[in-house]
Order: sequence, then structure tokens, then C-alpha cells
Amino acid sequence: MKTVIENAYIAPVAGPEIPSGYLVAENGLITALGSGPAPRIEGAERVNGTGCLVTPGLVNTHHHLYQWASQGLFQDATLFEWLTGLYQIWARMDADVVYGAAAAGLGWLALTGCTTSSDHHYLFPKGRGDLFDAEIRAARELGIRFHPCRGSMDRGQSDGGLPPDEVVESRDDILAHTAEVIDTYHDPSFDSMLRVAVAPCSPFSVTAELMTESAALAREKGVRLHTHLAETLDEEEHCKEQMGCTPVEYMGKLGWLGDDVWFAHAVHLHDADIRRFAETGTGSAHCPTSNARLGAGIARVTDLIAAGAPVGLGVDGAASSELTSMAGEMRQAMLFQRAVRGPKALTARQALELGTLGGARNLGRQNEIGSLEVGKLADIAIWRVDGFRSAVADPVCALVFGPTPPLARLIVGGHTVVENGELRTVAHDATGRAGADARKRLLQEGTR
Ligand SMILES: [Zn+2]
Repeated sequence: MKTVIENAYIAPVAGPEIPSGYLVAENGLITALGSGPAPRIEGAERVNGTGCLVTPGLVNTHHHLYQWASQGLFQDATLFEWLTGLYQIWARMDADVVYGAAAAGLGWLALTGCTTSSDHHYLFPKGRGDLFDAEIRAARELGIRFHPCRGSMDRGQSDGGLPPDEVVESRDDILAHTAEVIDTYHDPSFDSMLRVAVAPCSPFSVTAELMTESAALAREKGVRLHTHLAETLDEEEHCKEQMGCTPVEYMGKLGWLGDDVWFAHAVHLHDADIRRFAETGTGSAHCPTSNARLGAGIARVTDLIAAGAPVGLGVDGAASSELTSMAGEMRQAMLFQRAVRGPKALTARQALELGTLGGARNLGRQNEIGSLEVGKLADIAIWRVDGFRSAVADPVCALVFGPTPPLARLIVGGHTVVENGELRTVAHDATGRAGADARKRLLQEGTR
């Protein structure tokens, strides 16, 4: 399979931008890119990139796809109020809810430029079918690169945790199932479409033993570690009260700092925490819309970048960032840093890097995805920046400063997933409906 994109503005993220050039993808890899007219390639599909900006596909490094079915609830709640209210609803989920929510949630990500997404699934109510497999099925049908994280909670209310006891699992069950899903699904190959990570939910819903044993399991299997950290000031207080230290110090004690770890949020960091992230190569998934929606604060992204720590972006679950697009998160990240740190805090190009190569670093895939370079995987977003948007001379500015542009194409590993703003690998309208049906099932709207 060969594709030639021509006459486009190319922003490769690594290396200089090409105001008018071409990109060639063959058998899932980028084999050439450059300035001027495209070479003749026998049997290649030619894509006219006139009026388009070509970037690497966006990389989403934090999500909870099942939340697509519970958007718009608890609209004015704090994180702890929001979680406490939603746990009761989420306790009813089953594999059908997860499949419909994942199909719509991943479809939405693809429609807004995302070619690789992680997902953090940490609720496994008993007897509700194979929830982990349900979201993997949705990702495979769509054809997006997927990094599902086997989440977990073993510290319910009776042990001083936040979640009700009926949604937590035993440590033995969690570790056995996590090992099983790694053995079944994880593919470490260069062009892997699926890698599993180990992801206990958060320090306030998980025991120290589960954190430590999860890290040991991940390192034995050669997979990555993910969890929520330092999202709110409430969490910092809770951690100091119960563990006698800050969240990042607690992670250090548990062996949870390192270049195989990335944290969601990392909003409330001290200077010493930022230095430790940089020294150890620990990554952060910045989720600006969710953090603002829950009034959690704004992460110190500018400081993390200056220190050399890996930072990517995440849309977070749609229950705290309704209908959020990855391109939208680049804009939010840039605007929020500027709102608190001034107009030089984050440039459009830095925001694009957070959404692409920064995310690839979080997932340990910076050699494979995240930039347009010969030899990397052909994961490509082609944005329409013509029409109204052509009034902005700089296409990268149009993408990041403005609202999310429509996609001419989204290509994953050389395969077209989106064309002219519509899903091509799955039925576009039915995928949207699957998300609404998942909501009705979860909220029991049909039976009320
Ligand atoms: Zn989250």
C-alpha cells in the first residue's frame, strides 16, 4: 500500500517545517518527505494536500473511554464529589456499555486527529462480561493504535479509600487478570497496534501493596506503568494525612518514578518534584480541560518542559471533559500556560509537540510515532486549513490557536481511518449512536 501526499504544508515536529512539500508512505512507514513536487511512485494513491496542514497523528495519553456513557453529570462538583456520585452509576456498567462508549469515544478521537490513544480502565464489576476485551474490540474495528491500561482499585471505603467497597477488587484477582491481559494482548513490536500498561487507579483508591506489586509485575513483563497523581489539593492533603508525605514523595517510596512511568494530571507539583521527574524521566499527561472543569488547578507544564521532563497531553474521561478533542487540548494547554505565565509560556509549536512527540514519549514510542520522519510509522493527520482558516497565514497557528479544523484525512499505519471528516473504517453515524445507546443502558433510561 502506497500513498503520496502532495502540495501540503508539512509540520513534521522533528526537523524544519516544509511550506510546500510531499510525504510518501509505503507499507505503513514514512519512506520520504521533502520540499517541492512529489516523486512519481508506481501504484501509489495521490492525495492532494492543497490548503492542508500535515502533522503527525496526535497521541492521547490519558482517557477513560467508558465515561463517554456518563457525560454532563455532576456539572459543578469537585473531584471527590464527582467521583463519589459517579461510582454509584459506573458500578452498573457491563461489556455492552464499555464497547459502545469505546467505539464512540475512539471514533471521536480519530475525527479530531488522534492516531494513538491510551485508555485507563479501572472498574471491573463482577459478572458483567469481558470489559477489557470490549474496548480492545472497538479499537481494532476502528483501526486506531491503542494502549489500554489495566486499572484497578483495592482500597474501598472500609479501608479508608474513596470508592464504595462493591467496585473494588482483591489484590490477587487484580494481579492475576493484569498478567493475563498482558500475555493475551500486549504486542511489543515496532509497528504494534496494541500495548498494555499496568495502572492502579490512584493513591487514594489503591493500597501501597498493590502499587508495589503492580510495579514489580510491569517490570517483569516489560510493560509501562500509569496512574493518576497530584490532581487536586484535596489529594495532597489526603496523602499527607494518611501517608505522611506528598504524592510524588509517596510514589518515590513505592518505586514508581522512572522512565517507564507516566502520571495523569501532575497538577500540584513542588519544585523538587519537577526535578525528580526530569532526573528519572517520569512522564506526565497534562489534561487541561478536565483540570479546569473540576477546578483542580493548572499543571506547571512550562516548568516541566524547561526541566526536560517528558510531558504529553490527555483528554481524560469524557465525564470530566465532555466531547473533548485532542487538538482542543493543545489549544487549552497553550492558553492556560499563558493565562498564568504570560504570552511566552508556551508556543503553538510547543503545544503541537506536547500533542504528538510528548505523548509518544509518555508511551515509550518516541522512536516509532510522534513525528514525521523517514522510517517512522505512517500515522498522519491532514487538516483542512483553507476556506475561513486561510485568513490565518501560519497553518500551525490556525490549528493550535483556533478551534479544531476538519480533517481531510487521518492515516494510521498507512490506512485511511477518516476521510473528509467522516469515519471510513466503521459506520460513521452508527458509531455516534453507539455512544448514546451506551449512555441509555448505563443510566437505565429505557426502564425509568
Ligand atoms: Zn483520569
